[in-house]
Amino acid sequence: MTTFLELDGSEGEGGGQILRTALSLSMCTGTPIRIANIRARRKVPGLMRQHLTAVQAAAEICGAELEGGRLGSTRLSFVPGPIRGGDYRFAIGTAGSCTLVFQTVLPALLRADEPSRIRLQGGTHNPLAPPYHFLERAFLPLLRRMGAVVSLELQRFGFYPAGGGEFTASITPATLAPLTLDQPGTRLNAYAESFCAALPIAVARRELDVVRKRLGWDEPQLLLRGLSNDQGPGNALLITLEQEAVTELFTGFGEKGVTAEAVAAHAVDQVRQYLASGAAVGPYLADQLLLPLALAGTGSFTASAVTRHSLTNAEVIRRFLGTPIRTETLDSGACRISVG
Ligand code: AMP
Repeated sequence: MTTFLELDGSEGEGGGQILRTALSLSMCTGTPIRIANIRARRKVPGLMRQHLTAVQAAAEICGAELEGGRLGSTRLSFVPGPIRGGDYRFAIGTAGSCTLVFQTVLPALLRADEPSRIRLQGGTHNPLAPPYHFLERAFLPLLRRMGAVVSLELQRFGFYPAGGGEFTASITPATLAPLTLDQPGTRLNAYAESFCAALPIAVARRELDVVRKRLGWDEPQLLLRGLSNDQGPGNALLITLEQEAVTELFTGFGEKGVTAEAVAAHAVDQVRQYLASGAAVGPYLADQLLLPLALAGTGSFTASAVTRHSLTNAEVIRRFLGTPIRTETLDSGACRISVG
């Protein structure tokens, strides 16, 4: 009889991350899982297209036996088989986030029997998910430092709600080594880019103007990135901080009914909070680093904040691996998160 690890998707933050981390770890450890109450704390609970694509991608890569893998399902059982590298294509069919599907299968493909090349189609720059450039500049360089061999290439932007974006990833199997990040390190470069497709370029100018005024940055740091109309409509303001130890990236996503100034202010506020904390990583990198560090066995970093996302992710990891994840508040108000 199969013994399942039972998970409750309504616990903690109650969103898609419980499902994605559980899928990643089920594949990596060969543990059969049953999840109930999937995304119970979201406005529309259950599997949306992005989550369903993550489930199907995970199932295809490890030949899993699957029950409950359909749109809207709030229960899932997943019995993984051996991980198989190779060529894959996963299309979400909406603006659902390709980057989250990628992050779900990456840990397993790093442990595959052969290299992989995956092509993902859907959203590449949409709210509530890491934008493509966050993976490229912030997340993956840290994974490479841990030994991962991964490269990405963006073919087309996909914004919410139009979708239609695409990127490819090449992954060579590797063992992850521990990582310690205490300080962000000296600032090497900082710039803001406003990507704009099928929208007046004045939107981008207004966003960059807010960055200039509120961060005191100079013209060469403010970059207008007009995209072809067929990649839109869409807009994202990306603020990148290249530092010796970590590159961080904060985003404001353009949204119908929200002014360019408000989009930019949101991104700038995130940058200021991060810089004021003096921590190595911001809140998003913090929750995304937990799984790679746990798979490496140990590691630690300072973070500007410990979010509910991080705590929820830590609990799912503990259920699978037994890895303790501790958080400690530092005198500066930032936190240290230690894994293992
Ligand atoms: P969930 O809300 O459970 O679907 O998880 C969302 C995931 O996307 C988390 O891992 C967040 O860290 C990540 N995320 C959300 N917004 C951003 C952002 N602006 N930049 C980077 N990562 C993000």
